[in-house]
Amino acid sequence: MNPKIEEARINFVLRTWERRQIPFYTPEECIKRALAKHKNVCVSWSGGKCSTAVLHMTLQLKPDIVVLNNDTGVEYPETRQYIKDMTAKWNINLHVSKPITTFWKLVKTHGFPQMRALGIDKKKRPSVPICCKRLKEDVVKGAYKRYMVDADLDGLRVAESRVRMIALAGYGQSYYTKGYKVWRYHPIILWNEKQLNEYYTQHNIPLNPLYLKGFERSGCMPCTAFKNWADNLSKANPKMYAYIMKRMGKPTMDEFLKSGKEMQQIVEEQFVRECDQQIGKDKKGTLLEFM
Ligand code: SF4
Repeated sequence: MNPKIEEARINFVLRTWERRQIPFYTPEECIKRALAKHKNVCVSWSGGKCSTAVLHMTLQLKPDIVVLNNDTGVEYPETRQYIKDMTAKWNINLHVSKPITTFWKLVKTHGFPQMRALGIDKKKRPSVPICCKRLKEDVVKGAYKRYMVDADLDGLRVAESRVRMIALAGYGQSYYTKGYKVWRYHPIILWNEKQLNEYYTQHNIPLNPLYLKGFERSGCMPCTAFKNWADNLSKANPKMYAYIMKRMGKPTMDEFLKSGKEMQQIVEEQFVRECDQQIGKDKKGTLLEFM
């Protein structure tokens, strides 16, 4: 992520909060406030970089905190393994939930998910892909109910996306969500990538191996609802990438390059033919004979 874009997003949120007199706290203060105010606090942990940092901070204050993980069924194998390893390493009180449908069934009926768009009308919610609703939102609601959660700590950061920046500038660092019937807390909402990396180094926290392979996100493997999905997936799982491109009726990058090469060959052959005709007229042999 470009540090200047991150800075601009964070500053936009800070200015909005200042204007609206919305308070905010350091990550540790934010977590302490949540733990003091609510009876059943959980951490939502995806195995990604941000939620792992918040989980680490919370474990220092409440080692037996309920940790909820939602396995959408299309997680990266590296993320599943990381969650397993870290759970054993940190002795995490982990509860994994799963959806009742599958990503592929939803794709069959509704097509592949598309990037969320936020309109000028700030009162309107950004459009949520159906799979996010069925594989994430519904499952999370069920887990909150099952574990009687009244507040959730997560790793959301406004620097990560424009949609988050606009939405959270209006909400603040913590707020009540009617749909989920829980309070949501975002302790590291104002952190940039550098602060996050420094926290990992400072506390010697192992990284999800996906980041070491150069990926920027660790969410659902076949997700097509973010900007660089094709690039990410073609590196992570070329077979799945080729399959999705085929289902979408689009050429893969290899096919695209191949078609480019074929086109170049056709153009070159045409050029040679035209030269041949010209040279033939001059009765000086063909171009191919000269080569
Ligand atoms: S992250 Fe992508 S694939 Fe996963 S549920 Fe949301 S839109 Fe669907």
